[in-house]
This record gives sequence, structure tokens and C-alpha cells, in this order.
Amino acid sequence: MKNKYGIDIWGDDNFFIEDGVVKVDYSCSPSLISIVKDIRKQGFKGPLLLRFPHITKKQIKTLFNAFNASMKEYDYKGKFNAVFPLKVNQLPNFIHPLVSAGKKYGYGLEAGSKAELIIAMTYNNLGSPITVNGFKDKEMIHLCFIAKSMGHDITVIIEGLNELEMIVEVLKETNMEAPNVGLRVRLHSGGSGVWAKSGGIDSKFGLTSTEILEAFELMQDNNLEDLLTMIHFHIGSAMNTIKPLKKALRESGHIYAELKNLGAKKLSSINIGGGLSVEYSAYEQSRFYSLNEFASDVVFTLKEIARQKGVEEPNIFTESGRFISAASTVLIAPVLELFSAEYELSHLKLKGVNPPLIQELHDLFRDMTKKKAYEFMHDSIDHLESLLTLFDLGYIDLQDRSNAEILTHQIIKKAISLLQVDDYEELRKFDKNIQEKYLLNFSLFQSLPDYWGINQEFPIMPITHLDKKPTRSASLWDITCDSDGEIPFDMQKPLYLHDVNLNKEDYFLGFFNVGAYQDTLGMKHNLFSHPTEVNVVFKDDEVILEKLLESQKVIDILDDIDYDTEEIQSILSKRLPLETYEILKKYLNDNSYLKTIWSYYDDE
Ligand SMILES: *Cc1c(COP(=O)(O)O)cnc(C)c1O
Repeated sequence: MKNKYGIDIWGDDNFFIEDGVVKVDYSCSPSLISIVKDIRKQGFKGPLLLRFPHITKKQIKTLFNAFNASMKEYDYKGKFNAVFPLKVNQLPNFIHPLVSAGKKYGYGLEAGSKAELIIAMTYNNLGSPITVNGFKDKEMIHLCFIAKSMGHDITVIIEGLNELEMIVEVLKETNMEAPNVGLRVRLHSGGSGVWAKSGGIDSKFGLTSTEILEAFELMQDNNLEDLLTMIHFHIGSAMNTIKPLKKALRESGHIYAELKNLGAKKLSSINIGGGLSVEYSAYEQSRFYSLNEFASDVVFTLKEIARQKGVEEPNIFTESGRFISAASTVLIAPVLELFSAEYELSHLKLKGVNPPLIQELHDLFRDMTKKKAYEFMHDSIDHLESLLTLFDLGYIDLQDRSNAEILTHQIIKKAISLLQVDDYEELRKFDKNIQEKYLLNFSLFQSLPDYWGINQEFPIMPITHLDKKPTRSASLWDITCDSDGEIPFDMQKPLYLHDVNLNKEDYFLGFFNVGAYQDTLGMKHNLFSHPTEVNVVFKDDEVILEKLLESQKVIDILDDIDYDTEEIQSILSKRLPLETYEILKKYLNDNSYLKTIWSYYDDE
């Protein structure tokens, strides 16, 4: 791994390391630390979420270019279309730039709930497609009719026959023009990867082959067969291999062709859903296909089926969300404390006469040489074990115990610096005992919910110090009072960080690829709200920080969970002297994250 934290594996040329810092590989190539400094200067000292709309734009362009190139290569007659699934990131500061970057491609939006549909109806570029998935009631179907009446090119994807019946009802009741209809098929082939369960015969969604035939009959009975334009499937998020996609394509391709041959004249598109993966691993590649392979497999497979069944080649729709959004957002968490900082040598208070094991620890510390480093480190850890037992039995006192802990930590530190850890493999043997714990000013529940919920790995890297060798095997703690708010050291995927003195220097960790799903999945555990966020945009080679959105105020968080904030303020103001209440009011109007009192960069 060395110092690069796998950036060559997951970085996709969005960032690079130069002069020991992470820089944005775009325009004037600012360093992340310079952006962080700028924002902190304005008083925002907690965690930061940096959004880079140019990366979203690049992903949209890359997706369209890959498919259009494949279509050209295979002389494919259908057209490529794509929509962004809003569930992956609905926030306005992400969506507005996405919609404007997508305009020239006709890039549309996908909605899976009423609220998402309202976003799509309001902001989607007219002429770009809207698709609507998920379970629907009559109101939601009616909303689709209303969107259609606004001039949107909208397709309702039917998840069950009852939804089709609702369309017939709304049509009769309102006399409005109906939206297009798509059928979501329940594939017998499943996906791969962690989220594979959205595909397959047991999946929550889609119509069985019997239901598809029934649906088409129902449409014919109501003279609505011309509404049917799309076949849809979604085999689950983050496919790590392409094989299940090929199976799903063959399956849905044949369904498309069969329906065409049954008389579905306007059926013209296959929507392959999402699932296009991004690389999250900092250790070894975990996605085993390129976008170009993905595109060319889709185009080639559908072309073959169309030829075999003698039907026209379908337009291709994708609903890739993760691929479009993940890389665009970086979470920056300030390190508040290194656990071992409490074990500074200056706190050591040896007695005139010490217990023999403590004396021995002291000698190990004093006499350590590079050659003896491993051995002494090991010995010290054994000694500490014994001393802690002696403490529990009442044979040594609290001062002795404190001295033992300080000496052991100092021995470990000295050993690591003597060894200069060229050989991380060797050091790993000791990792269990000598990890450093880094306390970070962020909430894992709020900012990395997929780590908490499904152990999703995210690339992590300090944004400075990259010209120095990281020497501490690291566990990360967040500031929630929940012991699950931790990213423990993992022997298989070891994270090494720098041994920093936070009284002299700042240290920030970047969590990358957090733009997909994390924003609205994040939860307010312990009442920590979203980090302060900003869009980092570039104009004439200059960095401009746009749409700064401060982390929520304490009083607003309380309001969100339905406290009567008037009452809170009135009770507190009655019980406190005016001057104290004035101070308290300031705290109520500030966010929950911790503030470091002093910061190296802020003084510059
Ligand atoms: C979630 C979802 C997507 C997006 O999947 P990604 O893996 O993020 O690309 C696309 N289509 C449907 C129907 C979905 O439910």
C-alpha cells in the first residue's frame, strides 16, 4: 500500500497526490487542504462534505460516450438514454448541477416515491425522460398523469397488475392523457455483490412471466397496448461481475421480443436499471469489468436477440446511480485526538522505588535498539498485561499503573520509529496490540451509514502528510456515544496513519466515494446532523465555494424531532439569569459537532 492509500485503484484520476497533499485533478488543481482551510476560516470547524459537480458531469459524459461509442461500433439502431435514480442522492446541491450538466445529453430522472416524483416534475429538463419505479397508489399514478400533462416524457414502470388497473381507473376518471407504461420483469437470474437481492425470482419487485402476459392482455382489453413502451429490470446495486447482467439481458431481451411479436407495436425500449459499480477498495480491485465492457455487452447482447427474433433493436435506458454520484463527494473529518496522546512521557512519575516489572519497562525503553525493537515491544506488552493483573489484585497502585501504561506506549512508539516500518507485513503481527485510536469529529451514523449498516468499505486517506510514512495501525472512532461508531483496525485491510502531535499540527482524514446513498440514509443518532457542505466549482481556473450549507443548529435539530422549541427556550430563559441565557442562546444556534479550541491552520 505504501503512502498512496490505493488511490490508483479507486481514484479514477479524480484526485492525485503531490507535495504530500491530495489535490483535485481538475482546473487549477487545488489541494483538498486548501479548500478545507478556506471553509474553516469562515468558522466551520466540524466535519465537511465537499461536493465536486465537475466529477458528476464527467461521469454523465463518460456514461453517454461509452454507450454511444458501443452503439456506433456495432452499428446499433436503437438510441441510448439514461436517468438518474433520485433515491441515490436527492439533495438539491447535488441534483441542480446534475440536471444542468445532463441537459445536452437529454439525461433524465428516476423517481421511486411521491416526493421524488415532485422533484423530477419540477426540475427535470423538459424532453429528458422520467421513469417512475417502486410501489404506487392511485395518487402516485395520478401524479404521473399530471407530469405527463406538463409535457414530460414520463414512463410509469408497473410493479404489479393492480398498478395497471389504477392507470385504467385514473384514465377513465380524469380523461387526461396517460403516461407511457413500462413493465418491470421479475428475472429468474439474480445479481451479484452485496445488493444482489433486488434481482432474482424471490425479489421484492417485478412481474412474473404469467403476470406479464396478463398485463399485456389487460392493456389490449382496454385498447391501451400502445402505451407500452418499455421493459425494465434492475438486478441490484454494485454488481462486481458482469455475468449476471448478461443473463438478465438475455432474459429481458427475449421478453421484449416476444411482446413485440405479440403485437406490442410501441414497445421500443429496454431499461437495464442500475447496478453499475464503482471501485471502493483501497487494497485490490473488486469490480471486474470496465464501463466499456459493460456498454458493449449490453449493446451486443440486445442486438443479437433482436436479430434472432427479427424485431427492431430496442432503445437502451440505464438508471445508474452509484456510478454517477459516488465519486463526486468527499467527507473530511478533522482528527480531534490520538488516544496515545495521553501517554506522553512528561506525565511519567516514577517513584524512588518502583515495582520490578515497571523498572524493567523503564529499562526496555531506555535500552531499546533497532535490532531489539520487536522483542522489546513484545516484552513490554506482556509486562503491561501482568501489571494490570497486579493492579486488579491490589499489589500495585494507580500511579504504578499509570507509569506502566505510559512506558508501554512509549516503548511501542520508539520501536515503530526505530524500525521505520519498511516492512508492514512484519509489523502487522503486532497490530492487534499497538494500534493507535484516532478520534474523529464526525458521526459514522450520519456520514457513513453504509459502513455501519452493511460494512461497506470506503477509501480513507489523510489529506496531508502524504510525503511521510504512516507508522500507526489505526482504529477510527467517531464522536457519538455509541461503540458501533468505530472503524476498527482490520488486519486484512490495514489502515496506517501518521503519528501526529495535534498540539502542533492539524490532521484531517478524507473519506472518498461517499456521494451515493450516504446523504439521505444518514441518521441523526445522538442528534448529530449532516456535516457542513459546500459545492466546489471552478470558474476561469479559480476555486469557488458555492451553496455553503451549514450543519444544522441544535435548536433546529430539536425542532425536527418535534420538540416545541419555543417552550424549550421559554423554560430555559426563565430558569437562567439573563446573561447566562444569552450565552446559552448562542449554543442553541450552533451545531452539535465539536470545536477544536486551537487550530494550526486557522492561525496562519
Ligand atoms: C436503486 C435503483 C437504481 C440505482 O442503482 P445503482 O446501483 O445505484 O446504479 C436504479 N434503478 C432502480 C429501479 C433502483 O431501485
